[in-house]
Amino acid sequence: MDEITCKLLVIGAGPGGYTCAIRAGQFGIDTVIVEAGKPGGTCLNIGCIPSKALIHAADTYDTVARAAEGSHPLGISTAKPSLDFGKTIAWKDGIVRRLNGGVAGLLQRAGVRYLTGRAAFRDGKTMAVETTDGNRLIHAESIVIATGSEPIELPSIPFGGCVISSTEALALAEVPGKLVIVGGGYIGLELGTAFAKLGAAVTVVEAAPQILPQYDGDLSAPVARRLRARGVVVLTDAKALAANGGALTIETADGGQAATEADKILITVGRKPATSGFGLERLDLDINGPFIAIDDRCRTSMRGVFAIGDVTGEPMLAHRAMAQGEMVAEIVAGRRRAWDRVSIPAICFTDPEIVSVGLSPKEADRSSFAVKTELFPFRANGRALTLDREDGFIRTVVRADNHLLLGIQGVGAGIAELSAAFSLALEMGARLEDIALTIHAHPTQSEAFHEAALKSLGHAIHI
Ligand code: FAD
Ligand code: NAD
Repeated sequence: MDEITCKLLVIGAGPGGYTCAIRAGQFGIDTVIVEAGKPGGTCLNIGCIPSKALIHAADTYDTVARAAEGSHPLGISTAKPSLDFGKTIAWKDGIVRRLNGGVAGLLQRAGVRYLTGRAAFRDGKTMAVETTDGNRLIHAESIVIATGSEPIELPSIPFGGCVISSTEALALAEVPGKLVIVGGGYIGLELGTAFAKLGAAVTVVEAAPQILPQYDGDLSAPVARRLRARGVVVLTDAKALAANGGALTIETADGGQAATEADKILITVGRKPATSGFGLERLDLDINGPFIAIDDRCRTSMRGVFAIGDVTGEPMLAHRAMAQGEMVAEIVAGRRRAWDRVSIPAICFTDPEIVSVGLSPKEADRSSFAVKTELFPFRANGRALTLDREDGFIRTVVRADNHLLLGIQGVGAGIAELSAAFSLALEMGARLEDIALTIHAHPTQSEAFHEAALKSLGHAIHI
C-alpha cells in the first residue's frame, strides 16, 4: 500500500471540507483532501445548487403558464407552454458539472492533493483510502472530519421504488403527476413548491402543527397561504404511517387514518450526520446526540482531530460548514481563532422566501432585558408592488433600552439577498438608529428594513 504523509488531512470535499483545504493551501500547509463522491459534496451535487436551479426553472415555467391561462395581472398572454423536463435536468446537471470543475480547480490552485475514494480511520493520525488506482495509507498531523449528512429514512417507509429522497427528486426523468411529500420542512417545501409550479399535484404531510416548524407562525403563514392558493394540499398534525407502492397511509390530526395515492412519495423528514462506515468507532470521540461533539474551535475530544459541517450538528447549512472550515484551517496554521459569530443566517427558498438572522422574538423574550419587536409590511413598499408581490414583511427584534438589533426576519418574494444586509447589521452591532440613518436606495425591497427600523423608533414614513 502506498503511503502519504501530510500535515492536514480533510475527509469530505463538501463546502466545509473544500473550504478548509483551500484556506489551508493558502497558508502553504501540506494538505490532502479525500472525497468518496464528487467535489462539492451534498451542497453542490445533490443539495443547495441543484435545488435552486430547479426552483428557478419552476418559477420561469410558472410565470409563462400563468400568462397562458390568461390570468396574468400584467396583461401578458401567451400560448400554453410545454416543458422538456429532460432538458431542464440536463441544464441543472451542466451547472453542477461546471461547479465540480470549479472546486477541483480551486483545490489544485491552492496546492491541495485530491484523492477520490472512501477514507477509513486506522487511528487518530492514520487513514486508509481505497482509490481506483490502488490503496493509500495517509499519515497526518491533523485530521478534519467533514463527512456531512444523509437523508433520514422512515423505518416504516424505506427508500426504494416510488419512495424517494431529495437526491432522486432532483434527478427525476419526468415531473410526477401526483407527488406526496412527507415532512414540510426546508427540503419538502422548497421542492414541493417547485414541483407544484412544474405541474405536479402536491400533498404535504407534516407531523407538526404548522409547516416549517423551525420558524414562527408569522413567518410561515404567507408561505402556507401561497401553497394553498396554488392548490397544494397541506396536512399538518399528520404522520405518514406506511406505504404500499404509491399508496400511503396517514395518521390525521384527529387520530384517524387517511389514505392517499402518489406516483412518487418524497421523504424529507430531516438529515442525519454521516458517522458510520469509516471506522469512527476506533477513535472513541465524544458525541452530542447523533453528532460529533466539538468545542468553539471545532476540536473533537481527541487531540489533532477536528470536525466541521453537518456532522457536527445544527444548523446543517453550507455557509456554517464553510465558516467552520475556514476557521479550522487558520487554527492549524497557528492563528488564534474561535467561533465568535453573532449569527448564522437561515433562508428558506420557498415562495415567498423566508430569511432569519439572529434571535426570533420568542428567543429574545427569554433574555433578562425588555425586547421590542416591530414589522413593516411589503404592501406598503413600492418596489414590492411593482413586482406584483405585496405579501410578507420585514421584522426587527431589538433591546428596548439601547435599540441594539438582536434579530431580523423577513418573508417576501425574492428577499434571500437581503440576508447579507441583515447579517452585516448584526455582526457590526448595529442599533435601530444605524439602520434609520443609512440611506436605502429607492425603490427596493430593502426599504422595508429601513422602515421597520423607523417604525420601531416611532417614526415610520410610509405607513
Ligand atoms: P457535505 O456537503 O455533506 O459533504 C460531505 C462529503 O463527504 C460528501 O461529498 C461525501 O461523499 C464525503 N464523504 C463522507 N464520508 C466520506 C469518507 N469516509 N471518505 C471520503 N469522503 C467521504 N444548505 C444551505 O446552506 N442552503 C441551501 O439552500 C441548502 N439546500 C439544500 C438542499 C437539499 C436538497 C439538501 C439535501 C441540502 C441543502 N442544504 C442547504 C444543506 C447543505 O447541503 C449542507 O449543510 C452542506 O452540504 C454541509 O456541508 P458539509 O461539508 O458538512 O458536508
Ligand atoms: P427539516 O428538519 O427542515 O424538516 C423536516 C420536517 O419533517 C419537519 O417539519 C418535521 O416536523 C417533519 N417530520 C418529521 N418526521 C415526520 C413524519 N414521520 N411525518 C411527517 N412529518 C415529519 O428537514 P429537511 O427538510 O429534510 O432538511 C434537512 C436539512 O437540510 C435542514 O434542516 C437544513 O439544515 C438543510 N436544508 C437547508 C436548506 C436551506 O438552507 N435553504 C434547504 C434544504 C435543506
